[in-house]
Amino acid sequence: MVQRNSYKILSYKIKHNYNVKYFLNSYRYLLQKTINIIWDNIEWIEKKQRNYYLIRNGKRVKKKYYCVKRLIPIIPKSREFKRNLRNFLLEKWSYASHYVDSAIKVAYSIINSWRRNYLKGKRGRNKPVVKRKFVRVKETLYVYRNDKIRITVKPRELYLEFDLSNTWFGKRVNGYDLGELILKENELVIPFRKEVSSSKHLRKIAWDMNLLSMDGFCDKGWIKINLKPLYTLHVTYENKRRKIQSLAKRKPKTAKRLMQKYSARERNRVKDFLQKLTTKLAKEFKDYEHGFENLEKQGMFNKRKTHNRVISKQNWKQIIQFMKYKAFKVRADIDPRRTSSTCPICGGRLLKLRKGQVVKCKKCDLDLDRQLCGAINVYLRMRGFPSSQSVFYRVVIKRMISLWKMQMKRGRGVTPIGCETNDLLLMNPEGVKVNEHQGGGSSINVYLR
Ligand SMILES: [Zn+2]
Repeated sequence: MVQRNSYKILSYKIKHNYNVKYFLNSYRYLLQKTINIIWDNIEWIEKKQRNYYLIRNGKRVKKKYYCVKRLIPIIPKSREFKRNLRNFLLEKWSYASHYVDSAIKVAYSIINSWRRNYLKGKRGRNKPVVKRKFVRVKETLYVYRNDKIRITVKPRELYLEFDLSNTWFGKRVNGYDLGELILKENELVIPFRKEVSSSKHLRKIAWDMNLLSMDGFCDKGWIKINLKPLYTLHVTYENKRRKIQSLAKRKPKTAKRLMQKYSARERNRVKDFLQKLTTKLAKEFKDYEHGFENLEKQGMFNKRKTHNRVISKQNWKQIIQFMKYKAFKVRADIDPRRTSSTCPICGGRLLKLRKGQVVKCKKCDLDLDRQLCGAINVYLRMRGFPSSQSVFYRVVIKRMISLWKMQMKRGRGVTPIGCETNDLLLMNPEGVKVNEHQGGGSSINVYLR
């Protein structure tokens, strides 16, 4: 069997006091010039494309096709073009010549990403503009020795040195290699890389994101994380903002100041909550791969954009973002379609019972908590399993029964192991949850007949 290895990447920043303003400006100018030249050499090819729109006639929907002409950009990529480009750029470049190669690489990746979005119709025919000031420092432009990074700016003339011997993250990156550095005005971003062996035997946990909870499923069973405090936080600040708005007519300046103050406070408190939560999760599921649904796609299939959803989506994105640098491995590409309305046994559609808290399959009589069902489905998709009875038994039931028995013996349900304050997080690592609707001891609603 072919073993595919992948990298675990951690990024850390260190602050610096070097005056690199002029260098960063020159690099930005160089990068923009590179983009301009590539852009001016793009060949635009006219292509006919078939599109359609829908005509509704009562319940019937008809597709009506029509043709449009589109301009497809062909980006110059020949070796000769690149060589000429490099020589031209080098003429007026006074720093190390490798930065020109770095700029060419970055310029191509910017233009390619613009092209992808343009073809999808997400971007117009506008040349990308570089706004941020940064320099990508390739491996050829720095040396890492004795815990020190030395970046060449001008060969034999100007070097920048960074001492990593006393950083707080030193322990975490023991045995890692360094990747491409990013130099910014006041900081240096350092990615650390380590090869991890095949993910075949990696333990996995899948997460289903909900407004008031985050539901995970893994070999420990159902992990339920309470997000209600987060939701309450948003509501509190929304009420505050509403009050301030009523002040806006009489005292616009004060209102504006208060608005900024409270918005910043809300952002900080949310961030604080999410930081604590993700640190906790990364610790609790240390050597797990965490799987999340693809949130971009979720928007495509779930058009109902209520206000609550928009806000929680922001939180979900942030959770994934934090997990990406805290957890061992994270993926966020799992198909989100109908995770809470598909039967994990037969693949059929589920009915909602009890105000949607419980879902039931008509075909196979499965009866499941809606959030648990979502988590199980994300888990099955993450593992690449289809909906089937044997898989469901092997992956879900067998695991749950033993855990459930253990729980019954102990005679308790939820085990709160929050971080410092217990009401911040409610997590039950044993994976069995007391069902509020049935009250008391029994645990999970899985019935197989
Ligand atoms: Zn079913």
